[in-house]
Amino acid sequence: MSSPHEPEDAAIAALQDAFAAQRHAFAADRHPTLAERRRRIEALMGMMAANRERIGAALSSDFGVHPVPATDLIEVLGVLTRARYVLEQLEGWMAPSARHTEPSLGSARAYVVSQPKGVVGNIVPWNFPFDLSVGPMIDMLAAGNRVIVKPSEYTPACAALLQEMVAATFPADLVHVAVGGLNLARAFAATPWDHLLYTGSPEVGRQVMAAAARNLTPVTLELGGKCPALLTPGSVNAANVASVIGTKAVKNGQMCVSVDYCLVPRPELESFVDHAAAFMQEVAPDYSRSDDCTGIISLRHLDRLSDLLQDARDRQSRIVTLERDGVVDRQTRRMPISLVVDPAPDLRVMQEEIFGPILPVVPYDDVDEAVASINAGERPLGLYVFGEDQAVIDSVLENTLSGGAAVNTCAMQSALPSMGFGGVGMSGMGRHHGIEGFREFSNQRGTFIRGAGDMIDIFYPPYTKAAAVVQAVLSQPASPQASAEAVPGLL
Ligand code: NAD
Repeated sequence: MSSPHEPEDAAIAALQDAFAAQRHAFAADRHPTLAERRRRIEALMGMMAANRERIGAALSSDFGVHPVPATDLIEVLGVLTRARYVLEQLEGWMAPSARHTEPSLGSARAYVVSQPKGVVGNIVPWNFPFDLSVGPMIDMLAAGNRVIVKPSEYTPACAALLQEMVAATFPADLVHVAVGGLNLARAFAATPWDHLLYTGSPEVGRQVMAAAARNLTPVTLELGGKCPALLTPGSVNAANVASVIGTKAVKNGQMCVSVDYCLVPRPELESFVDHAAAFMQEVAPDYSRSDDCTGIISLRHLDRLSDLLQDARDRQSRIVTLERDGVVDRQTRRMPISLVVDPAPDLRVMQEEIFGPILPVVPYDDVDEAVASINAGERPLGLYVFGEDQAVIDSVLENTLSGGAAVNTCAMQSALPSMGFGGVGMSGMGRHHGIEGFREFSNQRGTFIRGAGDMIDIFYPPYTKAAAVVQAVLSQPASPQASAEAVPGLL
């Protein structure tokens, strides 16, 4: 990792060269055909499949411990599934979308077509180094763009591998990977992209958006926050608690759509704790000593998580470690999952995004109060609601606002190739995945084609004709709707 004071002139110059080359190449090829876009996505799929084992090794190197099946499922298969879906849909997505015209416009036609924007940047966090670099690349290439990716300085092995894989698969004027430290990151955000995707924390997101604003670069911000799971009355059972704890164990909580805290009916609080302990005991009694437990990305991050628990301990909070003899191992950076039961609202675990294996379990007395407590915080990236009473579930969904939501499970809203994924408010703006992602990285150009027999010239001065038409229409004792239909519904 480079120090923030290192100038990184060479890395910044290489980024600027790649950006200029992509701009130039885009100017010469502004609308890649369907066949060409498909070839690019197929090349990307081949790249991921061929490097599957090296991807697993790079993740293990950066995280210390990283379960290979999780790599295969999320970083490799997840990306391939997404690419396959885009290949199936792309022809339809690229087709112009016809729009209605007005009778007063005669035989005119109108359509919206998705145009490539140009050169798109992607700033990637450390937690899913391939899923969050190559995944959005699928949408960006499908939309006909050229792409430069900047991996996180916390995942040097993944960054080096991604750089090598991409260089072996694509020309640098189509896809390029820029590797470096904080100075490169700042230069990256200040580059005049045609669109910039940033995934990471809201704090850095603000800086990225401010840098992009100087170029009026449109941004997609995929940010973090505190995703709640709300267990409605009667829903605390083994299966639902397993779903919450199981989700927390994915990447050991280092996942933006993980459950950050749980809201549980007060009479069912002890049952939640018992089910959580039983789940861990039955399914993974040695979880934090096993290869299924992902290492925390750095000692700095591990210490932050330990400090969160210490803050709760200092305030005499009840902490339940879901593993007999589970301890923090600084050597391998592994940590057991802990519950903080009935935490005070001003504890750090209730104020900050946790992003690790700590789960506050907050009792509530009625569902409206639980919903109000969610709405009192920032709008979350994901919201999870458990229960069988459809009216209660609907009420929770209708009375909350979040980037995505899942019912009777957690996090799955982020895994569907067919569904846009993103945040709202402090958890982000814009979407990738699915048709929403294709459109996000496209310019939606509305195009009007004049036909015969229209009344367009009434808009040009002198307004004698317009005055006569308007007079004739508005002097009728007709409804506003009828008046609107009689004149061109334009402008
Ligand atoms: P981070 O914000 O520290 O870093 C993310 C990226 O930003 C890195 O590539 C980093 O080099 C770069 N960066 C840092 N400072 C920069 C600057 N001044 N200008 C430009 N770029 C800069 O985030 P992180 O710690 O890597 O990731 C954790 C956060 O990301 C959590 O908040 C998590 O919730 C969020 N996250 C969100 C999603 C999502 O899809 N919404 C997915 C994964 C992670």
